[in-house]
Amino acid sequence: KGELMKGKKGLVMGVANSNSIAWGIASQLAAQGAEMAFSYQGENLERRVRPLAESIGVKHMIPADVTDDASMDAAFAEIEKVFGTLDFVVHSIAFADKDELKGSFVENTTRQGFLTAMNVSAFSFVDVARRASKLMPNGGAMVSMTYLGAERVIPNYNTMGVAKAALEAATRYIARDLGPAGIRVNAISAGAMRTLSLAGISGGRSMISQGRAFSALKQDTTMEGVAGCALWLLSDLGRSTTGEVVHVDAGFHMIGLPEGFGEG
Ligand code: NAD
Repeated sequence: KGELMKGKKGLVMGVANSNSIAWGIASQLAAQGAEMAFSYQGENLERRVRPLAESIGVKHMIPADVTDDASMDAAFAEIEKVFGTLDFVVHSIAFADKDELKGSFVENTTRQGFLTAMNVSAFSFVDVARRASKLMPNGGAMVSMTYLGAERVIPNYNTMGVAKAALEAATRYIARDLGPAGIRVNAISAGAMRTLSLAGISGGRSMISQGRAFSALKQDTTMEGVAGCALWLLSDLGRSTTGEVVHVDAGFHMIGLPEGFGEG
């Protein structure tokens, strides 16, 4: 327990269940005194998300489908009604059709699949940032979730890697636009973790085992580690950091050749 987020009000988008990264982050923010609203994708998720929200004192549950302007209008009107202003936003949302997440990128990527991944996983952050910034008259902080597949080729990550590259670039453009208003915008590049989203990627489990085997720390990426980074970026501890993509992956991203390579 601490008070790093005391007096701060925020929106957490993307809790689907207790394995969601958004849930890991929200739990740690709550333990530091944050007041939060959760947005969730649709009615059929409410039953699972509500008990989680209530267990950490989150009173406001707001449906929001990021592909639907009317849904986003209603969600932000509701947020303004309940909170007035916002201090932080967590964007932990991505989607690509399963058929896009396997095999040859160049052969398997369709126009519709590409656009859907871009819409849900990259454009949605631009839209959320614009809407949320209007509720941040005193400055604020936003984080989104990304993955190494934006920077390097990860087998099967395909369309999602391209969408994450767009998300990371968008983070920098948004950070510059909103910087003068005292709003900081960053992304966390997390190592692979066992969530619903990972299950949609062909060979997702080996992303975890290989991530562990080749990481500097020889460890899995933990929810606590990711949430700790979010806490830094969203609290005043992160006051001088914006436009950044921070890797929280047990030191996987910076290894060039795995051990054993080229020996003997
Ligand atoms: P998750 O499935 O628990 O979360 C994904 C969320 O996106 C869900 O809550 C889902 O409802 C939401 N979503 C999808 N389409 C939506 C829409 N149209 N409108 C509103 N919400 C929508 O999985 P997760 O792993 O916690 O993913 C959260 C974020 O973390 C994603 O951006 C993901 O790419 C990223 N990430 C995950 C990993 C990993 O290994 N799990 C690693 C790095 C980054």
